[in-house]
Order: sequence, then structure tokens, then C-alpha cells
Amino acid sequence: MDKNRILIAETIENQISPSYKELLGFGASFHPDRESRILLIIPGQNVKELAEQIAMENNIHTLAIEHEDLRYPNPCFLEKILPEVIRENMPSYICLMHNVRTCQLAASLSIQIGTPCITGIESYEIQQEKTVFTRMMFNGKLIGRTACKTGPVILTVIPGSFSGSFTTDHSIQNGKTMIMKVHETVFGYKPVRIIETISKDNKLEEADVIVSAGMGIEKEERMELIRKIASIFSNAAIGGSRIVCDHGWLPYSCQIGETGKQVSPKLYIACGISGTMQHTAGMKKSGCIVAINKDPNAPIFSIADYGVVEYLQSFLPILAARYDDRKKNP
Ligand SMILES: Cc1cc2nc3c(=O)[nH]c(=O)nc-3n(C[C@H](O)[C@H](O)[C@H](O)COP(=O)(O)OP(=O)(O)OC[C@H]3O[C@@H](n4cnc5c(N)ncnc54)[C@H](O)[C@@H]3O)c2cc1C
Repeated sequence: MDKNRILIAETIENQISPSYKELLGFGASFHPDRESRILLIIPGQNVKELAEQIAMENNIHTLAIEHEDLRYPNPCFLEKILPEVIRENMPSYICLMHNVRTCQLAASLSIQIGTPCITGIESYEIQQEKTVFTRMMFNGKLIGRTACKTGPVILTVIPGSFSGSFTTDHSIQNGKTMIMKVHETVFGYKPVRIIETISKDNKLEEADVIVSAGMGIEKEERMELIRKIASIFSNAAIGGSRIVCDHGWLPYSCQIGETGKQVSPKLYIACGISGTMQHTAGMKKSGCIVAINKDPNAPIFSIADYGVVEYLQSFLPILAARYDDRKKNP
């Protein structure tokens, strides 16, 4: 049964997170051969039909785990039932998309099963028949490469790192769906609702241009500069790093990154953002990335198409003034 993979998807109100396609693409991409099997676990309140449809479309096995407390992602609940499923299926790899919830689940499974766990994977390579996984460390300043001698290995994958192209070449024919009704005595915490703070006039996912503020703005008053730059473009929105949202300078609905929004505008202007993997996980698929930062060694420059090494308070007013001049004298 070597090389089998268990993939664990997330659902919210019985809708599967679109990132499951990337998870499938990742799961099928390493050690693909006709002998290996993929089992996609879909936890949710009422997900049998969804699991059947995905099994049929992709020719993979799916396991629907149903319980009313799985209406929303619930790692505390899953950590009680998944160890048994994993032991029964004996996979080589257990893969999840990386976020705060799956990190909690991965860590708990790792301890319970007594198996290695590598979080935040961005790429991998095969070296002398060993799979070596790469992850960023210390806010992107170091790159760590890890291979495991024993398995199964639990992996969390940074969103946007792998293409979602899954082909049925790597799967079995006639994928089937299994249903697991969870025993009533299993309990975890029970999420009751998701709090959404969506600003209607700042549609990050639909914007062609996102001007994004990081801690380099240094004080809230400088958000005005960010707004001014955004107003230059016809379909622009304002985003920010998590710390800027933590300071209350932007609402959390504007947070971009691993625990915020995943965006891919035509143009992303990162203003005073260092470029940690938690932030870049949410924007690195953007068409063109422009970074403005006073530190020439800021990690954001490693993924930027254009880099400006300058203080925001010096550069942004000049940029805005040049635009105003052009408008007056086209
Ligand atoms: C589990 C977890 C999940 C997370 N999820 C997210 C997430 O979804 N999104 C997210 O963004 N973060 C997330 N984070 C936080 C993340 O690790 C970083 O702390 C955060 O992204 C850093 O934000 P920043 O780049 O604005 O600030 P900093 O890292 O402080 O960087 C500020 C940058 O501004 C530059 N700068 C300073 N002053 C100026 C100036 N005057 N002009 C120009 N440049 C200047 C500095 O050189 C520096 O590079 C998460 C962290 C954890 C642990």
C-alpha cells in the first residue's frame, strides 16, 4: 500500500473549498504511478452527494465524514476521528492545504499517530529517490529543506504553490465514495457561525489592481497615501497585511494572505510589506507585483516584478503628483 495519499479537504456549509483542486494536483504530482491511490476526505454536515460527484469526476476514492458539528471547519472534532481513518488506510502522505485550522489539525494528528509533520510546503524535489520538501523559515529569510526517513508524513501546502491541474491519469478507474457517520459521543468544540465583515465597496477578489499596505506605512494617517494611489486606477481595491489589520488601520476583510483573502489581480502594489510567506501565500499569483520598501533585502523583492527601494513617505507622494500632472497635461 506504499505511496497512497490521503488528502483532507475543507467545507463550509457543505460547499467544498476551491483549494481542493490544488490539493488534488499536489497529491498526484509526486510519486505518481498506477499503483498509488488517492483518498480525498470530505468532512461536512451533509456532503455525501458532493463526495460522490468529486469521486466520479476525478476517478478517485472519496470519504464523506458527516456530522452536524462539521457544518464549519472543525479541527478539534476531526482530530478525534481521523487517526483511526489514517491507520486503516496506511497512507505514505497525508496532505492538507495550509491555514491556521489545518496546522492545528496536522500537529495534533502528528502527535497522535507518532509521525513526522512538515508545515508550509512551497515546493519539493526528488533527490536520490527521496522527496525533499521546501518551506520558508524565519519570515522568508531562510529556506528549509526537509526529507523524512519514516512515514506516513503529514504535509500542509501553502495555497498557490502548486497548480491545480489534476489529471485522471494518476487515479484509478471507478472511484467510489464511502460514508462515515460519526458516533454521537464524539465531540469537539462546535463552531456556530462565521463572522464576515465584508466591505461592499472594496471587492478585493474582483479588483484589477490592489494597493496593499504593510507596517511600512508606520502610522494610520499614511493610509491616506494608499487611498490616493488606489484612486488612480479605475478598478482598484485596498488590501493589507495582517499586522495592519491587527492595528485596526484596515478591517480584517482587507487582510491578504494565508489567513486572509487569496487574490490574483493584474497589478499588486505592495507598500511597506516585508513579504513573509503568510502574506505572499495570498498574493503571489498576481499578474504583476510591484514592491516599495526601504529595505533592499526585504523578502518581498524576491517575488516582485518591479522593486522600488525607497521610503513610502518619499515615493508615494511623488508618484501621486506625477499622475496629477499627467492628468492635467496629458
Ligand atoms: C499563523 C499565522 C498566520 C498569518 N497570516 C497572515 C496573513 O494572512 N496575512 C499577513 O499579511 N500576515 C499573516 N501573518 C503575519 C505574518 O507572519 C507577518 O507578521 C506579516 O505579514 C508582516 O506584515 P508586514 O509585512 O506589514 O510587517 P513587517 O514584517 O513588520 O514589515 C514591514 C516592512 O516595511 C518596511 N518599511 C518600514 N518602514 C518603511 C517605510 N517608511 N517605507 C518603506 N518601507 C518601510 C520594512 O523594511 C519591512 O520590510 C500570519 C502569521 C501567523 C503566525
